[in-house]
Amino acid sequence: MATAIATDKVIGTSAAQQKVNLLGLSAVKMSDFFASIGEKPFRSQQVMKWIHHLGVSDFAEMTNLSKALRDKLQEIACVEAPVVIEQHDSKDGTRKWLMQLSGGNCIETVFIPDNGRGTLCVSSQIGCSLDCSFCATGKQGFNRDLTTDEIVGQVWLAAKSFGTLAPKVPRKITNVVLMGMGEPLLNFDNVVDAVNIMMDDFGYGLSKRRVTLSTSGVVPELDRLGDYTDVSLAVSLHAPNDALRNELVPINKKYPIAMLLDSVKRYLDGLPDTHRKATIEYTLIGNVNDRPEHARELAQLLRDVPCKINLIPFNPFSGSGYESVTQQALSTFQNILIKAGYTATVRSTRGDDIAAACGQLAGQVNDRTRRSERYAQRV
Ligand code: SAH
Ligand code: SF4
Repeated sequence: MATAIATDKVIGTSAAQQKVNLLGLSAVKMSDFFASIGEKPFRSQQVMKWIHHLGVSDFAEMTNLSKALRDKLQEIACVEAPVVIEQHDSKDGTRKWLMQLSGGNCIETVFIPDNGRGTLCVSSQIGCSLDCSFCATGKQGFNRDLTTDEIVGQVWLAAKSFGTLAPKVPRKITNVVLMGMGEPLLNFDNVVDAVNIMMDDFGYGLSKRRVTLSTSGVVPELDRLGDYTDVSLAVSLHAPNDALRNELVPINKKYPIAMLLDSVKRYLDGLPDTHRKATIEYTLIGNVNDRPEHARELAQLLRDVPCKINLIPFNPFSGSGYESVTQQALSTFQNILIKAGYTATVRSTRGDDIAAACGQLAGQVNDRTRRSERYAQRV
């Protein structure tokens, strides 16, 4: 079901563009901002609470700030999220938003409820430059990086749509995964700030185990990630050897499997707590990487990597040229890994009816943009 959302903003022409968008400031940057206007550091915590705990974007409502400060903020700052153009609700409870950014392009954000857990899947770029052969986002090409406020804005808007940014309302979003459109490590600075806001007590207060960054393996950036954050890590492996991975994930030609897994181990070793594991994502594609010998090779490859394995049945999209995995191939693959001592789970396909499953997030940028422009002209 699609719902068009009313908005009073004219897309892409916000007068607030010149202002500092406080939605995207990490705790440190927020303190620096208040210091730069001669205010005490505790203003930063007050304002972060208004924005991220209570969902307030109008400075006039921030009643524990002096009138003079509220007026000043109105002049030089703003709290502005992307514009929700459409909301789709799947019959399984999955909800997908199409959000428009300045410049006119759209991104997709998905909420997946599951047994008391609520996982929000957010995008980090418009499109992706890495061109994995089985990924709809990759096929769409790369447009630009998202800003920190655009990444955090997805969480803010989703929480607001559930009415959970209010005092004493239980949180519906318990986990955030950077598994939407884009390669997070290629938008390093903005992603690091965004995950740190998600994990900040004055932000969304999510624990580091509940915020997961998924990467296809940009090794130099992964090597410096631990200097900035201790977010949980998921690695898109998809193949147990370089020959096959080169075909599926072209960045493997630059940073092959051995180099990637060494970098993953270094990241885990650098974390303060000893029992953290990486999630190895393995998209199973029919007759490509789903044979029993692939499972055995994978079990051997990962023997000294602290990890659990998440098997993702390939989600077909038109023109992909690949087939789905059969139920039998999937369970044989999973059983081989389990017998080898791994925790190997299968990611259930959710939100299929609204094209919200893994790898289906393409946004059909051009079509959608045209539709959104027509919509914007109406409001
Ligand atoms: N760029 C990052 C994060 C976004 S992709 C990465 O590649 O890790 C999120 C996950 O969805 C990745 O594991 C990706 O390989 C997987 N994926 C992409 N296309 C898919 C498809 N068509 N079917 C199933 N999984 C897919
Ligand atoms: Fe980019 Fe990830 Fe898709 Fe590869 S799988 S093209 S890295 S979004």
